[in-house]
Amino acid sequence: SPTPGNHQPLTTQVAGHVGVMMTTEDGSLLIKPALPREVEFYQILQQDKTLEGLRVFTPQFLGTLKLEGQVDPSHANLAENIISIVLENLAYQFVKPNILDVKLGTVLYDDTATPEKKARMEKAAKDTTSGETGIRVTGFQVYDNATSKPIQTPKTYGKSLKPHQLGEGIAKFFPLFGQSEFLPVAGPTSGEDIDMSDSTSSYSFGLPIELLTPIVQGIREEVVLLREVYEPLEIRMIAASLLIIYEADWDRAEEALTRYFVEEDNEEDSDEEDDDDDETKPKKVGLPFVVRLIDFAHTNLVPGKGPDKGVLLGMETVINLLDDRLKKSRLEA
Ligand code: ADP
Ligand code: MN
Repeated sequence: SPTPGNHQPLTTQVAGHVGVMMTTEDGSLLIKPALPREVEFYQILQQDKTLEGLRVFTPQFLGTLKLEGQVDPSHANLAENIISIVLENLAYQFVKPNILDVKLGTVLYDDTATPEKKARMEKAAKDTTSGETGIRVTGFQVYDNATSKPIQTPKTYGKSLKPHQLGEGIAKFFPLFGQSEFLPVAGPTSGEDIDMSDSTSSYSFGLPIELLTPIVQGIREEVVLLREVYEPLEIRMIAASLLIIYEADWDRAEEALTRYFVEEDNEEDSDEEDDDDDETKPKKVGLPFVVRLIDFAHTNLVPGKGPDKGVLLGMETVINLLDDRLKKSRLEA
């Protein structure tokens, strides 16, 4: 079980409330202060047989934690009620994680929303891509090959997109090496310490076609599987996100892809080599990408009410966008 010790802010956060997400000292686990509903959903998810298929598409849940004595004294009255959830840090296994947070669904308020919030969220869906396509690009980070630092694209970018521009947004998250058309948009915070004048060359971003194609294809297959699992469920995920992470380090991506596509078919080769926990060792080669659902602060089971149409529409949109990305990068390779 996780030991509350030296926690540090999550540096790979691409969306959400800033400054609340912490990691354990080694970075492998996340500690998120959570609303009762999110705690409850993670707990149900571990037990409910009908949600077994969905569970593999969520971060591993290690339990809950009360961070006593670590809360700002001015909020001391809240401290007793703050429960944190301990989750697997999905970015941990990556050397250079490119991370995309996509908000799913056409409806962004739940039954607890006040009339004011309901009206605000209806307008938000209408004014962004959410209402029409079931997704909004919330935020993403893409590594710059030249500096080995991530460029973070803020949520204002995704909010500004029209439905026909979503393909452009997705292309910025999956840059093809040498393709100058889709460079990342740096936000005000990353602009402070990253000089974009050095890195706006098309050679600063992206993976070569031999690595990008299987990664986008693999991610697409995962979203197809997720949609299949999600389709029959009577659930409403309000303002949950699809978190997509892939390896942007070329050597590492190549190794991880080989493991994923070659050795997985050859079970006898993929023996659990060395299990000694030598901390000086570099990280073990993990997956080339991961696709997970996160953020269940407004998720409800709704028996008898049928499928979650808005979220399913969003998953469909993501699949179509990934198809378009594959077509486009093939054309320009
Ligand atoms: P909020 O309720 O503040 O929106 P989220 O759960 O959506 O919080 O998380 C905010 C951000 O933190 C995500 O966009 C992602 O970048 C990062 N994040 C959340 N959960 C994980 C996880 N399990 N592993 C890695 N990163 C995560
Ligand atoms: Mn969120």
